[in-house]
Amino acid sequence: MRCLLFLFLLVFGADAAGAQQMLHRRVLLMGSRFDLTVVAANDIAGNAYLDMAIGEIARIERLISSWDPNSQTSAINANAGIAPVRVDRELMELIERSIALSELTDGAFDISYASMDNIWKFDGSMVRMPAPEVVKKSVEKVGYKKIILDTKKQTVFLSQKGMKIGFGAIGKGYAADKAKELLMANGAVAGIINASGDMNTWGKQPDGSDWMVAITNPMNKNKAFAELPLRQGAVVTSGDYERFVEFDKVRYAHIINPQTGYPATGIISVTVFAPSAELADALATSVFVMGKEVGIDRIDQLPQVACIIIDDQGAVHKSKHIRINEK
Ligand code: ADP
Ligand code: MG
Repeated sequence: MRCLLFLFLLVFGADAAGAQQMLHRRVLLMGSRFDLTVVAANDIAGNAYLDMAIGEIARIERLISSWDPNSQTSAINANAGIAPVRVDRELMELIERSIALSELTDGAFDISYASMDNIWKFDGSMVRMPAPEVVKKSVEKVGYKKIILDTKKQTVFLSQKGMKIGFGAIGKGYAADKAKELLMANGAVAGIINASGDMNTWGKQPDGSDWMVAITNPMNKNKAFAELPLRQGAVVTSGDYERFVEFDKVRYAHIINPQTGYPATGIISVTVFAPSAELADALATSVFVMGKEVGIDRIDQLPQVACIIIDDQGAVHKSKHIRINEK
């Protein structure tokens, strides 16, 4: 009965032009804040969509979290250097795409960065630089080429003991894409999935206007320097201004260069526009590692992708395809 009523309201709402409502919800998932917005005919339909999005993100978190000891990702890590682990096709495909992104970025993006997590802490607890030998040693366990996939058996094997994978730089984007996909498939006309700056939109606001995104300069957070419409695609900003360490006046971001073992320097924020949040998320992280020149050069070669970089001097750098009206 409830189900019938819900369907009726949905159909009725779709016919009644102009009667749309916008609903929001803020939840903590994947260790991050998710701000969800959906446009629906009424509260009941809107809340059902919000519940659906939350269920989907929580499902993905259970699959990919390396903090949850019961996840398939944790099983892969626990079996590093020991045995291949059979996983769901969905996780297998996410790992395949992650490896493709490593190739695309010459290894700047690498989910096997995770074994270095225990030497760098960006929560304020670190008081000195790790010893160079320690950093050098940590890099030995990193390398996407050492992730062995068997697509037929659907297994993942980290070939070296101590290796670890983590989806910190792609998981939120993936979850935002999947939540959007699910809601669209179920008839939600418009919405925004904002995973702490990993943003995905579809449709339009109830008044017919485009969703707008504001880009702020971290050097002056109160003032957006650009505002632009976002249709269909995704925009991701990487650069958690609270998460960095500083030694000898050098600021180290919470993104680590897999080749050197040292955190990226020189950039404080990267915003990437791309057709999917997953791609934008991974590329934003990669640009940090590649640096502004190589980063922009690489972004310029990709169709439908653009970026804005803010360096540690507060200067703004834009890729070729960016056309924004600065305020
Ligand atoms: P944000 O914290 O703003 O979401 P990112 O999307 O760039 O930033 O993700 C940063 C996270 O990605 C780090 O906290 C870490 O978990 C992971 N990471 C760090 N360096 C790399 C790397 N080179 N490749 C892939 N993931 C990384
Ligand atoms: Mg990222």
